[in-house]
Amino acid sequence: MRLRTANNKRRARAKRAFLRYWMTLKDNCQVCLGEKGGVRGNENRIRGLVACDYCHADGSARRMADAIASAASA
Ligand SMILES: [Zn+2]
Repeated sequence: MRLRTANNKRRARAKRAFLRYWMTLKDNCQVCLGEKGGVRGNENRIRGLVACDYCHADGSARRMADAIASAASA
């Protein structure tokens, strides 16, 4: 029983540490690279690009997708 309790404590600590680390991560936005402060896990996918709500809303994601498409076809 002692072992098990110690193990549970260790796991709870690891989980808290992971959550703390997770909170400091930027989101996966490929347009602003997280600079606009989008919430991680709340990204949108716009024509293959991962974009935060901000880049989605202000059209940056669409412009970037267009630029990539025209570069690819050039
Ligand atoms: Zn963004």
